[in-house]
Amino acid sequence: MTHSLYVHIPFCNEICSYCDFCKVLYQSQWVDDYLDKLDEELYQKEENLLYTIYIGGGTPSSLSCMQLKRLMNMLKYYSYRVKEYTVEVNPESMNEEKLKILYDGGVTRLSIGVQTFQEELLEPLHRRHHNKDVFDLMTKAKEIGFQNISIDMMYGLPYQTQKHIQNDLQIIKSLDIQHISYYSLILEEHTLLDIQHYQPIDEEKEYYYSQMIKKALYDMDFIQYEVSNYAKNGYESLHNLVYWHYEDYDGIGLGAHGKVQNRHYENTQSLTQYLKGNFLKKDIELTKEDQMFETVMMGLRLVQGISLNYFFEKFNQSIEDVYGNVIQKHIENKLLKYENESLIATSKGLDLLHEILIDFL
Ligand code: SF4
Repeated sequence: MTHSLYVHIPFCNEICSYCDFCKVLYQSQWVDDYLDKLDEELYQKEENLLYTIYIGGGTPSSLSCMQLKRLMNMLKYYSYRVKEYTVEVNPESMNEEKLKILYDGGVTRLSIGVQTFQEELLEPLHRRHHNKDVFDLMTKAKEIGFQNISIDMMYGLPYQTQKHIQNDLQIIKSLDIQHISYYSLILEEHTLLDIQHYQPIDEEKEYYYSQMIKKALYDMDFIQYEVSNYAKNGYESLHNLVYWHYEDYDGIGLGAHGKVQNRHYENTQSLTQYLKGNFLKKDIELTKEDQMFETVMMGLRLVQGISLNYFFEKFNQSIEDVYGNVIQKHIENKLLKYENESLIATSKGLDLLHEILIDFL
């Protein structure tokens, strides 16, 4: 096993209208069976002490107290030296007892699914919490001892106006939190919003909102360190940095994936198969070209970009030798730049990363 582990808990109490993650509706018996298999999968990995653990979903907090305790115990052995241990939680499915179970299990960081503080916008998303649930959860978490709290926010939501986003930012200003992931809603195929023919906001508006959010968060001392992620100084997500630095990690659970040296593996997304113990869907060998491209794809998401030395040491070739023409083109149109011995996407480049990466590909 590598030093970073992602654990997927696919159960949710309700399905959000925009969601295309790997998830199923909560059923207690399924969860018990799932935890049996998760344990089995974990056992198959080579033992190792972990640097980061991230339990995501789905909704890990949809588990009952007993189930959550079991999950914590399962991972306890690996977590003695953990630097960051995150669990994603939804406000309506949390309570004080669950918070204590997580804290006693060694969890150091909570990632709370908020999306917006404008309650009338939550209904069309099929999110069932109230602001009070979020505030109570944060207060209790602090009382118990959590010192690292992140929230997930979204813009480009159905019926959301500029005023709504400004109100969200005002509320964020009053919170004692350390990290924010602020995503633009991406309309995915076959989601309820897609079926309802929701029209996403146009690119111009999206750019305008993203700049507005960036500026407001900057004024609150949140430093943007990745396309959609902002942190107070020293609170960048260590686990997610492992992905963006293109380091190795393992994943267990439904639909989870991992990268170990030059191999990338992906688990089945079928709960039936997973519960039968057929965990793996594919395991592919990455060519040097794949790895170079993925290093660029992940690294350019970071505000500090890709270290030129790091690239050279990893591939024994300079990034200019491999991608010189593309880099030059995007330096000329001011989407990329060299700074601090790194290749960096400019502020405009970060917003147009998708187009840049198509050229690298
Ligand atoms: S809670 Fe998260 S994983 Fe579950 S349906 Fe909503 S967005 Fe998807």
